[in-house]
Amino acid sequence: MQTTNNSISVSASIDDTRTTKTNGSTGVGRRENAANDRRMEQCPRFQTCEAPCCPLDELWDVRVKLPGDEACSLRKADRLRLGADLPKHGLFQGELAAIMRFYGTWESYESHLDEKRRRSRSTDSSDAQKRASTDTSGDARASL
Ligand SMILES: [Zn+2]
Repeated sequence: MQTTNNSISVSASIDDTRTTKTNGSTGVGRRENAANDRRMEQCPRFQTCEAPCCPLDELWDVRVKLPGDEACSLRKADRLRLGADLPKHGLFQGELAAIMRFYGTWESYESHLDEKRRRSRSTDSSDAQKRASTDTSGDARASL
């Protein structure tokens, strides 16, 4: 009895997997859409860029790229910001692979980025303080 029940449940789950795979390969939920267009249009180079594989394009992997085609030259910080909602976070495949190799998880890379931003902010503010203390006289008079 038990053996029969088990074999039934196994075959049922195999069928489930097959259904999911079929749906995946027919491309359900993977087509041109307004949100994808809007994301790509936010690139400051959108008007002039001819790169067929845009890191801000969720369909990047189905675009046709020929030898000699332009590559995206947007800097990484901008791609990360504009591509935050994408599975590859606006990065090139090689960049993402290198990050995952080094940091292990995306979360630990993000906390590294946060730390970097926090440090650069504190450097900025100490610079601002230095500037403020040097030209106090001018500023004080201007604000009066
Ligand atoms: Zn581009």
